[in-house]
Amino acid sequence: MNTLNRHYINGRIVSARGTDTYPITSAISGELIAEGVLGDATDAEEAVRAAREALPSWSATTPGERRDHLRKLADSFTRHREAMISALIEEFGTTAATAAYIVDQSRDWFLDAEQLLTEETFVQRVGQATIHKVPAGVAVLITPWNGASWFIAMKASAALAAGCTVVIKPSERGIWQAQPVLDAIADAGLPAGVVNVVFGKGNPVGDTLTGHPDVAKVSVTGSTATGKIIAHNAVDTMKRVTLELGGKSPTVILDDADLTLAVPFAVQAGLFNNGQACIAGTRILVPRSRENEVKAALAEAVSALKVGDPREADTVIGPVLDRAQYDRIQAYIQTGLNEGGELLAGGLGHPDGLDHGNYVRPTLLAVTNDQTVAREEIFGPVLSVIVYEDDDQAAALANDTPYGLHAYIATGDVARGERLARRIRAGRVMINEIVDSREAPFGGFKQSGIGREFATWGMSAFLEEQAVFTP
Ligand code: NAD
Repeated sequence: MNTLNRHYINGRIVSARGTDTYPITSAISGELIAEGVLGDATDAEEAVRAAREALPSWSATTPGERRDHLRKLADSFTRHREAMISALIEEFGTTAATAAYIVDQSRDWFLDAEQLLTEETFVQRVGQATIHKVPAGVAVLITPWNGASWFIAMKASAALAAGCTVVIKPSERGIWQAQPVLDAIADAGLPAGVVNVVFGKGNPVGDTLTGHPDVAKVSVTGSTATGKIIAHNAVDTMKRVTLELGGKSPTVILDDADLTLAVPFAVQAGLFNNGQACIAGTRILVPRSRENEVKAALAEAVSALKVGDPREADTVIGPVLDRAQYDRIQAYIQTGLNEGGELLAGGLGHPDGLDHGNYVRPTLLAVTNDQTVAREEIFGPVLSVIVYEDDDQAAALANDTPYGLHAYIATGDVARGERLARRIRAGRVMINEIVDSREAPFGGFKQSGIGREFATWGMSAFLEEQAVFTP
C-alpha cells in the first residue's frame, strides 16, 4: 500500500506526527490507491509557529518583491500541471477538460494577484487621514475536495499578495489531488514558513487552527455546517472570517426563452463538475405555460449526456468522488421518489455498463420547492425541476432557500432577465451565458457565507485598515 505522509511545514516536506490515516480511492475504479497520514494538533501548532515566525519579514516585503514570488508560484504550478490534472481526474472523477480548466485557472490566480499589486494598493488619502492597509497576520486557509488546486491557489494568492503568511488545510478527502500542489508550492522556493500545508480532519487539525490565538484570519470554503462550526470556533479570539459555503442555486427559464439555448445552459449550470460544484444550478424553475415542452427538452438533454470514463474526450459526466458520495446521492434520489417526485431522467443505481467506480445516473426529478431534494445540497448530478406560474412566483421560489450563492436566468429579453436578477438574493446571477469571470466579486448571501473573494475583494479580506490623521 502506497502511504502518503507528506506535509509542508517551515519550508520542508515533513512527515506528520499524527498517526491517523485516511483511505484514498479512485473515483474511476472505486479501488483503494493509497493511504494518507493525517496531521494532529501538534502538526497544526508547528505550522502556525512557522507562519508566525515568517510573518514579520514577509509582511515587510515590498509589493514588487511579492510580485516576484507570485510569479514563481505561477511558474511552479505550470511545471506541475500534468500531475495536477491526472490526480484530479483520478481522485474525484472530473472530466479531463474540466481538470485542465481547473489547473490552468489555479496558475492564473497567482498571475492575477501579481497584477493587483502596486505600491498604491496599500495606501490611500481621505481628508486628513492616510489609510494604511496592513496584512491581517497569519491566515488559515481551509479548502474542499472539489478541485483542490483551484481553492488553494485562489485563497493563497490573495493572502500572500496582502502580505499574510498562511497555513493551508486541504480536505482529507482530497489528499491525492493536493500532492502535486504541495510539490508546486515547495518547488516555488518561497522563504521558509510563508506557506505551510497540513493535512487533517476538522477535529483535531481544523479546530486547532481555527481556534489558535496566533491566527488572525480564517478563510474557508466548505459546507454551511462546517462554516458554522468554524465561525463559532474563531469568534473567541475575534478572527476575521471569510466563509464560502453551500448553495442550492436556481436556474429560472423564463417563458420567452429559446429552448435550444436555455436547455444546454441549464444543463451545464446544473451538472458542471459532475454536479459537484457549490455554484450548481440545481433547481430549474420552469414556466407553467411551457411546462410539458421544457420538461421534455430537459429530459432529452440529460438522458443524452455521455456518462463514462473521465479520461475520454467525449465524456460529459464522470464518476463522483467516493463511495460515501455515491451513497449520499442515491439516498437523495430515493428520498425524491419517496416524496412523490416525478422521474424525468436517470434514477437509482449505476448507469448501464458502469458498475465499477462511483458512476451515478444524471437524474432529473420534477418536484415542488418544499421537497427534500429541492431544499438540501446534494453535491452530485441530481437536478430538481419546479414549475412556477408567473415571474413573481419565479422570484419568490428562487429566493425560497436558505442559500444565496448563485442564480441563472434564461430569457429572450436580457433587460427582463436583469430586472429579475435584481430581485434574487444571490451573490452572482448569470443571464443566458456562463461567464468565466475572476474580476468580479464572488460570495454568497444568507447561509451561503460571509464575505467576498476574487480580485481586490479577495485581497481586501486579508487586510486591516488603519487611518492615521495628521493636522
Ligand atoms: P466540508 O465542509 O466537509 O469540508 C470543507 C473543509 O472544511 C475540509 O477541509 C474539512 O476538513 C474542513 N473542516 C471540516 N470540519 C472542520 C472544522 N471543525 N474546523 C476546521 N475545518 C473543518 O466540505 P466538502 O465536502 O469538502 O466540500 C463540499 C462543500 O463545500 C459543499 O457544501 C459545497 O457547496 C461547498 N463549496 C462551496 C464553495 C463556495 O465557493 N461557496 C465552493 C466549493 C465548495
